[in-house]
Amino acid sequence: MKTDRRKVLKGLGASTAALGFPHVGRAQVRGQIVVIGGGFGGATAARYLSHAGHDVTLVERDATYFSCPFSNTVLGGMAGMGDITFQPRTLSADGVRVVQGEAVGIADGTVTLSSGEGLPYDRVLMSPGVDMIWGAIPGYDEAAAEIMPHAWKAGKQTQILRSQLEAMEDGGLVVIAPPANPYRCPPGPYERASLIAHFLKAEKPRSRILILDAKESFSKQALFEQAWDALYPGMIEWIPPSMGGRVASVEADTMTVVTDFNRYDASVANIIPPQRAAAIAQAAGVVDETGWCPVSGLTFESDLVPGIHVVGDACFPGAMPKSAFSANAQAKVAAAAINALLRDESPVSPKLLNTCYSLAAPDYGFTVAGVYGEAEGKLFEVEGAGGVSPIDADNDVRVAEAEFARSWYATITNEAFG
Ligand SMILES: Cc1cc2nc3c(=O)[nH]c(=O)nc-3n(C[C@H](O)[C@H](O)[C@H](O)COP(=O)(O)OP(=O)(O)OC[C@H]3O[C@@H](n4cnc5c(N)ncnc54)[C@H](O)[C@@H]3O)c2cc1C
Repeated sequence: MKTDRRKVLKGLGASTAALGFPHVGRAQVRGQIVVIGGGFGGATAARYLSHAGHDVTLVERDATYFSCPFSNTVLGGMAGMGDITFQPRTLSADGVRVVQGEAVGIADGTVTLSSGEGLPYDRVLMSPGVDMIWGAIPGYDEAAAEIMPHAWKAGKQTQILRSQLEAMEDGGLVVIAPPANPYRCPPGPYERASLIAHFLKAEKPRSRILILDAKESFSKQALFEQAWDALYPGMIEWIPPSMGGRVASVEADTMTVVTDFNRYDASVANIIPPQRAAAIAQAAGVVDETGWCPVSGLTFESDLVPGIHVVGDACFPGAMPKSAFSANAQAKVAAAAINALLRDESPVSPKLLNTCYSLAAPDYGFTVAGVYGEAEGKLFEVEGAGGVSPIDADNDVRVAEAEFARSWYATITNEAFG
């Protein structure tokens, strides 16, 4: 079904309040809130809660935050590491106490850091992101990731993969192995294939990209495949599990990727393993057997441990993809809900929006968008309110959507880290 793009874009232009995000008012009650994780979810929530008048302490392990969104443009040679680098400590200007440290446990109203420091709280909001499940692909552990980088957490891993692409000979084979759903950023691996192809087409045109997938279909598939045919004919091959694409194991020492039917000698191997909620969520007891954190779609409070709210990639509130856009939207809803709960008020049932932009080339973009409502404590996708870019669009639409992607990135990084 073709989506009415004007309706979607009009929706994107609307203010978050107009879409139903509860407004974070100035609280009568000053709560002590500990926010764990200074990424897209945590940084946004910390800022909103501080503006609402609460005492907010943000605990972030790393001094520097590297954004995964737009990290594929670094791999494609269109941007540098500086373009995806941010400092969580900028939140101090908003009254947030920023502590560089690692949260290792939550119990009896206190968040404990690895330094031994204890942070008492009225409510915790965590947005700790994902951990890789090492060993889920036999042979793929932390040591193997230094040789066959996942680059699914940005920073050093992004740099390793970029260096390998730069060093690779013309005519080499780049293997990309995306995981099964659910995982961080469903269209990310295919955007990555596109932007690596953009680099190879210019610099090493005899090279090939092989996507060995763990699933039978992927996000925005028709749009990606159309772009690959138009921009990189013959360069990218996608193999689903039914055609032998499932990666059975890897041998990092020989750069071999093994499927059920074949062995591939890779020049560069980007292995993206399955993921789960980050370790602090496990330690706090907010993770269930799925590996993710079941939460209320009304408040983002854990279904398992009262007083702990989880947003971003780690949470499972019902229907909503794992994206920075989602993490940012969920952070605002959770901040408003915490504010209401501390004042003994009823949280407002939210409407949330997500849009995932993808670039197939610097001036070739498209999107998938969704609107999510809440019913009985879980989020559901509002039928007919979202959709994907039309397949038969003119080139100027692709150019405009690439520009929208860059504007979105500037806006969201400014809101979280600016
Ligand atoms: C290649 C790629 C491209 C992407 N492109 C897009 C895109 O175009 N658009 C989009 O919307 N999304 C995109 N994403 C997805 C996006 O990166 C994530 O959805 C987003 O980062 C989730 O935010 P978060 O706050 O849940 O986690 P994160 O951003 O990962 O932040 C978690 C933070 O918590 C910290 N932390 C974890 N544990 C602890 C602890 N115990 N103590 C202290 N600190 C801790 C970490 O250091 C980290 O800084 C992309 C992802 C990838 C991999």
